[in-house]
Amino acid sequence: MARIFAVANQKGGVGKTTTTVNLCAALAAQGQRVLLVDLDPQGNATMGSGVDKRSVPSTVYQVLIGDQSVVQARVRSEAGGYDVLASNRELAGAEIELVDLDNREKRLKNALAEVDAEYDFVLIDCPPSLSMLTLNGLCGAHGVIIPMQCEYYALEGLADLVNTIKQVHAKLNRDLKIIGLLRVMFDTRSTLSQQVSAQLEQRFGDKVFRAIIPRNVRLAEAPSHGVPGVVFDKGAKGSQAYMAFAAEMIERVRIL
Ligand code: ATP
Ligand code: MG
Repeated sequence: MARIFAVANQKGGVGKTTTTVNLCAALAAQGQRVLLVDLDPQGNATMGSGVDKRSVPSTVYQVLIGDQSVVQARVRSEAGGYDVLASNRELAGAEIELVDLDNREKRLKNALAEVDAEYDFVLIDCPPSLSMLTLNGLCGAHGVIIPMQCEYYALEGLADLVNTIKQVHAKLNRDLKIIGLLRVMFDTRSTLSQQVSAQLEQRFGDKVFRAIIPRNVRLAEAPSHGVPGVVFDKGAKGSQAYMAFAAEMIERVRIL
């Protein structure tokens, strides 16, 4: 059975896509069968996986509106070693079209059931909003991975996200839990980072992943080459951190 995780944080630019792409590639490198679902009309996870969002024949949009199955719509990330349900601007329209459809929050969940036996992990890259698309991500998942930067305002936004997750849990998806908070773009030399990081550990305990992703320019460079960072430069500190995070995820799902 596939373990399905949404990578979510309604704050923009906090490292959701970088985390999704690199976790997928790191899991694949560790022998896992992986599907990446790009739920963001920006299509950054698609491009970062080496799939051209402008020419891809099918996207998650067709799946959400029920025109195609996951098997029909998925493509391969040769660079990353995993499958991709791609996205592009067309997906922005789904937000409105979904309103009139039955089970509008559960379209992704129902579509993914078809490929449940084919993957060990499905990772969903959510857009920076608490929209119908993100709701489909949260309804389709067993858990949420929350990437966050250790800065002063990070904790404020977190309360809204935790509330949304609680509501989805109560009303739509009893399976949903927060798997963990992932500290990303971490600057070891910053006192503020250290303080916020310590606060997170105090408040959330073992819900904070042990792996910490440092700020690392190689991770930021990789997307322009259409290759996940962990493949682009295996030796980079950021890549090693994502490999360690993948190992931690494999360990966590054993006890879930
Ligand atoms: P959005 O909310 O727009 O979807 P996001 O949360 O998906 O953004 P990313 O696109 O992953 O965030 O990252 C934002 C920017 O930060 C990108 O330019 C990315 O390359 C860079 N970045 C992410 N993680 C790191 C890191 N560990 N070190 C250096 N740069 C990083
Ligand atoms: Mg993103």
